[in-house]
Order: sequence, then C-alpha cells, then structure tokens
Amino acid sequence: MATAIVTGASRGIGAAIARELAARGHDVVLNCAGSLDRAEAVAAECREKGVQAKAMAWDVSDFAACQAAVKQVKDELGAPTILVNNAGITADGLLLRMKEEQFDKVLRVNLKGTFNMMQACSAVMVRARTGRIVNLSSVAGVMGNAGQVNYSASKAGVIGMTKSAAKELGARGITVNAIAPGFIATDMTDALPAEVRQKAEQQIALGRFGKPEEIAALAGFLTSDAASYITGQVIVADGGLG
Ligand code: NAD
Repeated sequence: MATAIVTGASRGIGAAIARELAARGHDVVLNCAGSLDRAEAVAAECREKGVQAKAMAWDVSDFAACQAAVKQVKDELGAPTILVNNAGITADGLLLRMKEEQFDKVLRVNLKGTFNMMQACSAVMVRARTGRIVNLSSVAGVMGNAGQVNYSASKAGVIGMTKSAAKELGARGITVNAIAPGFIATDMTDALPAEVRQKAEQQIALGRFGKPEEIAALAGFLTSDAASYITGQVIVADGGLG
C-alpha cells in the first residue's frame, strides 16, 4: 500500500477522496489551507480504517511550502507515490468586471498549486519508479462557463499540464490523469444562487448534482493497479451535463 497526499482534503470532494484512499488501505496526508481542525476530523475517520492519516496545513500556491511538505511526508510517512491535486477555489465574475487580483488568485491556487505539487511529488515518484497523479479539473475547463473565465482558464490549464506530464513521466511508471466533474454537491456549489442551481439541474441528464463520493470512487480507481494502462486522460463525471 502507498502513501497518498490529497490536497484540499478538509471538506467536500477532497475529504471524500481521502476517505476512499484510506478505505483502499493507503496511508493518507490530508492537506488544507487553514481549517486544520476539519482536516484532522477527516483524518480521524481515515484512521478508523486502520491506516495512518495526518492532517497538514500549507498553501498549495506556495512553491517552497509544497517542497517542504513533501519532504516532511517522505521523512515521516514514506515516499508519497499517490498525489491527488484537489485544492481549488472560485472567484466568479463576468470578464468585463473581473479584477486582476480575482484572475490571479484563482490561477495561483488551481493551476500553479497543481504544478507545485506535481513538481515536488514527481521527483519522489521518479526515484520510486512508480506513481499515480490525479488532478481535479472541471467541465468548466472543457466547455467553458459564463462568469468563470478565471476558473475555466485554470481548469483548462490543468488538462494541458496533465497531458504533458503524462508524456514526460510515463516511461518512469507514473500515470497522470484528470477528472472533470460537473456540478457536485459541496460548499463550492452551495454558494451558487438558487436559480443557477435549478437551471443546472435541468441540464443534467441524471437530473441531480453528483455526490463527492461519486468523484472519490473515480479517483480511487485511477490511483489503483486496475488503472495501470490509463494515462494522459480527462475523465468527465458530470451526470450527462455535456
Ligand atoms: P470546496 O470549496 O468544498 O473545498 C476546497 C478545498 O480546497 C478546501 O479544503 C480548501 O481548504 C482547499 N483549499 C483552497 N485553497 C487552498 C490552498 N491555497 N491550499 C490548500 N488547500 C486549499 O471544493 P470542492 O467542491 O470539494 O472542490 C474540490 C475540487 O474539485 C476543486 O479543485 C474544484 O475546482 C473541483 N471541482 C468541483 C466541482 C463542484 O461542483 N463542487 C466541480 C468541478 C470541479
């Protein structure tokens, strides 16, 4: 069994992925930005499954912090050979009104954060000659979404990085894939206005938002031996929204 890092694991999809990986027998590091108490509560649930689980706060947009965290994980829990880049934020607004800072901060966390963690972990994975990287993109990065030029740019960027990294790392036994969820019921989508949520539901073939566990199951598969010949792919899980 491996040591896994899941970023943004204090709640929502990240917490569900941490629980899924623990259920599969992996030791898990649960990263969060600031809410260490919430991440620790999820880590306690993971430990009930008989694995080691550690909550750690660091900002994924901080390159040096990512390098230091991965070194600490390697020293304390063993080389992380599973990485799930799940941490992400939104700062929605129409293009014409979007502030520069609104654009920059979403790109910093969603795109550069994913780069920072892939860079730090792939060095460890290359030495271990094995690795599984899963990056959370979004249907917004595939199809675009009004009010989200910043977010969709970051998530389209994640797809480009995923495909390029898969080509660089394949020969080292490392797979890199992306998951593009549609609307999933978490704090992120709770923040949407009611009319936007209703309209979205009407456009989803399955007629409902997805559950975090439905994305976690896919992440569990992509990090498993069963997915050993899948790399450079973007798996859309949107209930038939597209
Ligand atoms: P969420 O807002 O519920 O949770 C996001 C997590 O990321 C939190 O734990 C937060 O603390 C963490 N985080 C934010 N900034 C961070 C930083 N700088 N460093 C470390 N951690 C940070 O979000 P969610 O709905 O669970 O989404 C998880 C991922 O899935 C995100 O990348 C999101 O863009 C993507 N996604 C979500 C949906 C959806 O409908 N919920 C759809 C498509 C894609």
